[in-house]
Amino acid sequence: MNFDSHTSDVVATAVAVVNLLVPGHARGREYRVTEPRDELRRLLSPRSSRPHHVPTEAEIDQLADYAARLYAVFVAVDAGNMDDACERTNALLWETRAAPVLARHDDEPWHLHFHAIDDAWARNCAASMATGLAVVLGNPVYDRLGVCTALACDRVFVDTSRNGTRRFCSTACQNRVKAAAFRERKRG
Ligand SMILES: [Zn+2]
Repeated sequence: MNFDSHTSDVVATAVAVVNLLVPGHARGREYRVTEPRDELRRLLSPRSSRPHHVPTEAEIDQLADYAARLYAVFVAVDAGNMDDACERTNALLWETRAAPVLARHDDEPWHLHFHAIDDAWARNCAASMATGLAVVLGNPVYDRLGVCTALACDRVFVDTSRNGTRRFCSTACQNRVKAAAFRERKRG
């Protein structure tokens, strides 16, 4: 993968935030969102221009709405529907008014941040995540966004492997599928 490391971090964060805030199934079990605040702060603070901000319930709800829309982008790519994926991403970029800003902080070299034009926490986070996905979608390896193919799991992932053959959200799901196939062979 040849995205720069900052973009890779932003995309990895987007994946983690979407999986945290979107209910569904995870690794064989129903997944409900409970108390995401601490995990959100852990995920988002290192990249935030307001690292010490503690999000309110309302801000978390707002971010969850954006996360659901970002989730739909992964689903569209997974279904091979690039037009839908790109239109959804463009709508998020437009609504969040994602704007590129070069920033230098914490002894890092100059790097590109993407912020909403105002300081609303959820919109700022969504602007950054939507831009991360936009960079992937505008790249020859656009199809690296995916949804787990294991039974009873709908978590998303970004495939950063060299050959791009990833199918599962986690090694937990990969092992579940392997174990099921093994049982199947034994029985058969
Ligand atoms: Zn999975």
